[in-house]
Amino acid sequence: MIIIKQAVRLQEYLTQQAGRGLISGFVPTMGALHQGHLSLIAESRKHAGITVCSIFVNPTQFNDPKDFDKYPKTLEQDILLLEKAGTDILFLPSVNEMYPEGLTNLEHYDLGYLETILDGKFRPGHFQGVCQVMYRLLKLVDPDLLFMGQKDYQQCMVVKRLLAIMESKTKLVPSPTVRESSGLAMSSRNMRLSADQRSEAVDISKILQFIKENLRSQSLPALKADATEKLQQSGFRVDYVEICNADTLEPLESWDGKTPLVALVAAFLGDIRLIDNMILTEIGG
Ligand code: AMP
Repeated sequence: MIIIKQAVRLQEYLTQQAGRGLISGFVPTMGALHQGHLSLIAESRKHAGITVCSIFVNPTQFNDPKDFDKYPKTLEQDILLLEKAGTDILFLPSVNEMYPEGLTNLEHYDLGYLETILDGKFRPGHFQGVCQVMYRLLKLVDPDLLFMGQKDYQQCMVVKRLLAIMESKTKLVPSPTVRESSGLAMSSRNMRLSADQRSEAVDISKILQFIKENLRSQSLPALKADATEKLQQSGFRVDYVEICNADTLEPLESWDGKTPLVALVAAFLGDIRLIDNMILTEIGG
């Protein structure tokens, strides 16, 4: 694995490699890697001849500066994991390298309603930050395939919109959420949970399962209210429990029995914000 810290060096290297005519895959991350990230590397290696991973904790997507300061960093271990997973290139830029013009007066992207719902509503500016860094990374790497996790369902939709805005040739390949055996969705932020919080956090996936199992017996508002109450009783501060059209992410108050649905949850345990989601209407579900 080659580690590159400078954008120009990355571009030089990728230009050299382009002659080989390989399909390129890209896995952007913020580090503190776990099996969820590694599943994306594995997916890229399955479909692409050259896999680029980036680790960059992007300051512009943190609406809470404390969350940015406390974001876990495990770089040495990340490098070992990526090497072992067969990553070809690790891009490891500094903030200056990504934002040479500074962090103010940045681009604004028209994300439409995606920015006013769910995490767009509860984390103002978050998805603009995601787009600011993804635009830069995509311009640099210009991959054929972009691998991202369904764990961040809304982020996948935002990035799909960004790719359309950029008129990019890159195809987004969303990958299923990797979970602990308890059901807890793997997340870098889980590293900050105490042992007690880690077992409490499992309730988010249980609630999603509860929504899925009761979809046909309760109205959507009743299900959402029940789920919110259950989470609150387990000690969560709930940002939202929503049931949305899985294709458009439009929040729904009723279901016609046909529209594909996804349930999404964002909730705090202490000062740690966890998100998870589940497709409710997949075949066999
Ligand atoms: P992050 O480092 O949290 O920015 O995540 C980098 C990429 O890994 C994103 O595309 C995430 O959606 C994806 N990811 C994070 N957690 C998981 C997981 N548990 N399963 C699958 N993909 C994940």
